[in-house]
Amino acid sequence: MKHKIVLIPGDGIGPEIVGEAKKVLDQVCQKYGHEFEYEEVLLGGASIDVHGIPLTDDAIATAKSADAVLMGSIGGNTATSPWYQLEPSKRPEAGLLRIRKELNLFANLRPAYLYSQLKDACPLRADIIGDGFDMLIMRELTGGLYFGDRKTYEENGLATAMDTLVYNEAEIRRIAVKGFEIAKKRRNKVTSVDKANVLDSSRLWRKVVEEVAADYPDIELEHMLVDNCAMQLVRDPGQFDVILTENMFGDILSDEASMVTGSIGMLSSASLNETKFGLYEPSHGSAPDIAGQDKANPIATVLSAAMMLRYSLDLDKEADAVEQAVQKVLEQGYRTVDIMSDGCTCVGTKKMGDLLAEAIQ
Ligand code: NAD
Repeated sequence: MKHKIVLIPGDGIGPEIVGEAKKVLDQVCQKYGHEFEYEEVLLGGASIDVHGIPLTDDAIATAKSADAVLMGSIGGNTATSPWYQLEPSKRPEAGLLRIRKELNLFANLRPAYLYSQLKDACPLRADIIGDGFDMLIMRELTGGLYFGDRKTYEENGLATAMDTLVYNEAEIRRIAVKGFEIAKKRRNKVTSVDKANVLDSSRLWRKVVEEVAADYPDIELEHMLVDNCAMQLVRDPGQFDVILTENMFGDILSDEASMVTGSIGMLSSASLNETKFGLYEPSHGSAPDIAGQDKANPIATVLSAAMMLRYSLDLDKEADAVEQAVQKVLEQGYRTVDIMSDGCTCVGTKKMGDLLAEAIQ
């Protein structure tokens, strides 16, 4: 099949890790008889250096013309890079916020999967880890507390600040539908997380999620309060499949869930809109401290490419092949420096990419 993919190498280690992910995708195309047409777009510091702004209208139009976008990471050393002398609206991160908004990416997915080969990196006890865990946090990304009205003012002589948490039923419904659709591709369980014992917005959330659940009789739905979920993630992470939640709860829980996997270089992510379109990127940043040194772990980006195959291109078999290639290379004992442990073979970014591409079955 033919697909158009926009690549955003970005800054720091971005070009290195995107290059390795493309190597793996090229191998997928060869093995499975697909044709991917690529176009590159500048974002962040790389765009500032060429155009003076972190994202151009042309770049947005190109991204919109694709089936999916695969991104590295953007930004530089915030203390020393001249990009951070610019006014906030011209800095690298402004480009990232704008592209997410322009593409209407309201659903953020972050898997937290524990590889048996990396169990030592998990901070939880072996009896808690059990057979491992494989969950996905589905976070609403464009509503809630981070986008509501806010102000800081003085009342009765006291400095006072206010933020508002607003959701309407349409915003809740579209993310809930995404959550159930993705659970169908996984283990058919959704845990909807809210604070319905206190918040009106959570009571509406729960009501709409239940309405959506009626259309998915094969999917098990449970509701969980956010404080309990924060505990359960470290008490019994194996119980979760898809965790569906609003913006701020998802922000906090997804960091907690990724922490229990142990390694930042392994964590993929996806941001989706109402169509099949998505932007896929590793959860980590541009790691300027190791840029250009062939030290970056490309696996998070390769796994983001696997999510792209699965969720935007509907190529489930090919996505499985990429995920299995990661398993196989870890089983063979190859590690980049960030996940290195005794008895393993330390390899650079390029070699890891070669090994992953070779392991595609
Ligand atoms: P970071 O994630 O870039 O790095 C944190 C630490 O993890 C560093 O020691 C780094 O070397 C290491 N690391 C990260 N990814 C790695 C990988 N793939 N392989 C091996 N080691 C890896 O976070 P930071 O240093 O706080 O931020 C650096 C820049 O990245 C900043 O400009 C920040 O704004 C930006 N950033 C961008 C994104 C994004 O593009 N979505 C996300 C987070 C941070």
